[in-house]
Amino acid sequence: MKKIEMVDLKGQYENIKEQVNQSVLETIESTMFINGPWVKSFKEHLEKYLEIKHVIPCANGTDALQIALMSLGLKPGDEVITADFTFAATVEVISLLGLTPVLVDVDPETFNIDVTSIEKVIGPKTKAIIPVHLFGQVADMEQILALAKKNNLYVVEDNAQSIGADYTFSDGRKKKTGTLGHIGTTSFFPSKNLGAYGDGGAIFTNDDKLAHTIRGMVNHGMYIRYQHDVVGVNSRLDSIQAAILDIKLNYLDIYNESRKAAALKYNQCLANHPHLITPFRKGDRDSHVYHQYTLKVIDGDRDGLVKHLNKNNIPCGIYYPIPLHLQKAYTSENFKSDDFKVTTEIVNQVISLPMHTELADRQIDFITDTVKAFFG
Ligand SMILES: *Cc1c(COP(=O)(O)O)cnc(C)c1O
Repeated sequence: MKKIEMVDLKGQYENIKEQVNQSVLETIESTMFINGPWVKSFKEHLEKYLEIKHVIPCANGTDALQIALMSLGLKPGDEVITADFTFAATVEVISLLGLTPVLVDVDPETFNIDVTSIEKVIGPKTKAIIPVHLFGQVADMEQILALAKKNNLYVVEDNAQSIGADYTFSDGRKKKTGTLGHIGTTSFFPSKNLGAYGDGGAIFTNDDKLAHTIRGMVNHGMYIRYQHDVVGVNSRLDSIQAAILDIKLNYLDIYNESRKAAALKYNQCLANHPHLITPFRKGDRDSHVYHQYTLKVIDGDRDGLVKHLNKNNIPCGIYYPIPLHLQKAYTSENFKSDDFKVTTEIVNQVISLPMHTELADRQIDFITDTVKAFFG
């Protein structure tokens, strides 16, 4: 059996090696390293895939979030609501811009931002909500969009973990995650569902005015050459990464199908276990693209399980071990521990098993047998 990896980037590369190598070489030969034709081509293909008017490529997913917030014209002290249970990048950019992060609890089953908790913290200073489609599963967007509309708030979707997932509205309409709010952002970090061979990110919007603002902001606040109308940043997707992503985008649906198949196999092997809860999927099968396969360990020694797996050469991860409201950088006297009952509990329960596009059934059998053996 092949060595089990948390994410098998090498195995994935082997299957597209010739195409990728040729394209990377072409890019280098052209010496058009910055904003070469590959960036435009990838941007256009991604717009088509997502069925969105504007994709603005940038340097990474954190920049994408920061620039999205910069484009909204918020003022210091304005509040932005996001989940207490996510990667720190989501909250980091809020603080960095002098805005006030308001963290809220998540749903114990989907791990996504809890809509009732959002409603409770909306106040006169609230300007935006950043739902994160965590671990590959779309958040409760219909309710979030309705709340935002009622309270005149922006919605910026952090789609770094869920590119390719679909949200189905109650009337049956389907849309890609990242295209539901005012702005969507994503990351092409190598281990993400659409990963580059280095850093990369993108911002999506259907709003022509926001798109125009964002295009200048990623380019030093420049709308006319050497004329700087606003304070911007330098954030670009480089040509080599764009060339690689343009190839990998053709495989995104196949990659996400492989993840769904692996999740289904895991679910079957671990079903009805007294100490394990397999990932809960709220919507139809397209609503979850399994960036992570995350179990909850109930009345059991989660940390012991991590050690047991590692001893058997099975990698695993704890995403995330500390809720953001308890992180030194983001803690605030406004946060009351009672408001974070779910996040404080699940950080001690969650464990993510290997999940990628190259997982073999035999590997999943070995992983799940090893998990079950731990509980005896
Ligand atoms: C990965 C990730 C980011 C940041 O992406 P980078 O490209 O690493 O900057 C932001 N939010 C979430 C939820 C992520 O998983």
